[in-house]
Amino acid sequence: MAFEKLKATLEGNGYTVSVFSTGAEAARYLADEVKGTSVGLGGSMTLKEMGVEELLRENNTVYWHWSSTDPKEAHRQAASADVYLLSANAIAEDTGEILNIDGTGNRVSSSLFGHKKVYFVAGRNKISPDYESALYRLRNVVSPKNAQRLGRKTPCAVKGDKCYNCDSPERICNALVVFYKKIGSMDREVILVDEELGY
Ligand code: SF4
Repeated sequence: MAFEKLKATLEGNGYTVSVFSTGAEAARYLADEVKGTSVGLGGSMTLKEMGVEELLRENNTVYWHWSSTDPKEAHRQAASADVYLLSANAIAEDTGEILNIDGTGNRVSSSLFGHKKVYFVAGRNKISPDYESALYRLRNVVSPKNAQRLGRKTPCAVKGDKCYNCDSPERICNALVVFYKKIGSMDREVILVDEELGY
């Protein structure tokens, strides 16, 4: 089974873990699990590629700033939703540490507190051997790609190669959250997908 060791490690850290072969299967699972409630989504190419928003909207009220005409209001609504979905920017395979980096803060704050349940979704490209390589990935792969996607005038977006630890007012990586273990305030499930999803 894919992710057998990582699944056991994450379960040892306190998480419920589900494994899927494709993003489509994972999206179907989430739509079957989450019904009749309010759902907030963090900005995530993984979730977008999975098409999970459309499926969740069939039976829930969904708040996502990426598809809202009022992104700031959608941020506030997502923050008070019962269920929150986000991707993991990286997971350290040896320890099960989950890392997320954020510019606005809505995604990492919702991952910490305030919902009944949080789902972290990660494709196989998000799995790094250890904490150091996971952090390297966040700084030098995830953030530059997101800066380019957002059209930011940061050195990483312009040059497209690495993080320059910039002082740009358009900097997108301002906070790092590392989950060593499951925080006890909410249910948390990790969805591992044996497919490349997002950055
Ligand atoms: S600190 Fe600046 S250069 Fe480095 S990844 Fe973030 S936005 Fe890009």
